[in-house]
Amino acid sequence: MKTKPLSLIFIAVMTMFNAVCFTTKAQNTKPFVVVLDAGHGGTDVGNLGNGFIEKDIVLDVTLQIGAILEKIPDFKVIYTRKTDVLIDLYRRGPIANEADADIFVSIHCDAFTNQAHGIGTFVMGVAKSEKNLETAKKENEVIFLEENYEENYAGFNPNSPESLIGLTLMQEEYLDQSITLAGLIQTNIVNNLKRKDRSVRSAPFWVLHSSYMPSVLVELGFLTNKQEGPYVNSKKGRRELAREVANGIITYKNNIKLATSGAQNPVITEQEIEEAIKISEEDIYKGVDFKVQLAASKRKLETKPQNFKGLKDVDRDKEGDLYKYYYGNTSDYTKIQLMKTYAQEKGYSSAFVVAYKGGKKVKLSEVLSTKDN
Ligand SMILES: [Zn+2]
Repeated sequence: MKTKPLSLIFIAVMTMFNAVCFTTKAQNTKPFVVVLDAGHGGTDVGNLGNGFIEKDIVLDVTLQIGAILEKIPDFKVIYTRKTDVLIDLYRRGPIANEADADIFVSIHCDAFTNQAHGIGTFVMGVAKSEKNLETAKKENEVIFLEENYEENYAGFNPNSPESLIGLTLMQEEYLDQSITLAGLIQTNIVNNLKRKDRSVRSAPFWVLHSSYMPSVLVELGFLTNKQEGPYVNSKKGRRELAREVANGIITYKNNIKLATSGAQNPVITEQEIEEAIKISEEDIYKGVDFKVQLAASKRKLETKPQNFKGLKDVDRDKEGDLYKYYYGNTSDYTKIQLMKTYAQEKGYSSAFVVAYKGGKKVKLSEVLSTKDN
């Protein structure tokens, strides 16, 4: 229940974005490249909760997501597999890199020894809870089935995913965008299909670590759960889940397109954003200050609105020989995400969220993972 108000706001804001985007003629001819990764395949069957077969379900859902996206002009879809074959985990990220993809989305189903259920979307990072670590371990396990795994995985041990932590850096740069993408997919499924929200979390998945783009892994539900397993396996369940993952991706893409189109006259007014902040449920991280980094420059600018496309209360900080300019200062993660969206719409397309603890900059991923359950 906790995340519902935020989800609604998010969808409301994103719907407004969509309205704008669909009326704007496509000027950029470069397609938006989505790499869809159906987990497992071939000898790696994935989990077999309730007798259902993960590798078959995720392939079917993945192909359906692709079919929806392929109908939309400016989308290009690349699949890591379209048939029942095993693709080594370490090859999947590079497929996306070689395609110069815009996003990487890996599709899986979860399993657990108890009756756990719900939808979870993951980004690469440290797992703060045993359950998240277990999920990552299971999805990484296939490495043992692959030939020459010792050479290909540089000493990484699937039974100790912590050994991947040193490799999370590559994804750190895309963390903010990965969280946005994960959030859109997650809220679409949870709200539109009334599934239990296990929220967006981080865990060390090998398949996510090597791609140079926003990357997420969706766990569509628990095959081991008595109610959820049959739903995820059903024709209806697969169709609905595919539709909502696709919707999340479409919204993300439209959001990016607007942010990079240099729009200086946002359709959403500051007043509307303030209104959204007022009614959205707080997501407070005690002792943490979130800010939106707008820009870094050697130039020392006065922080008045005229210099920052009308944004008020911009802060300046000196780091090394660079001045960094920040918008917003709050311990409410919901609020800062909305403020980031607004800054991006104003034209700061690469604006991102940073976190401070006790006046010191800390990794956003670490701050967010402290709230894992
Ligand atoms: Zn899986």
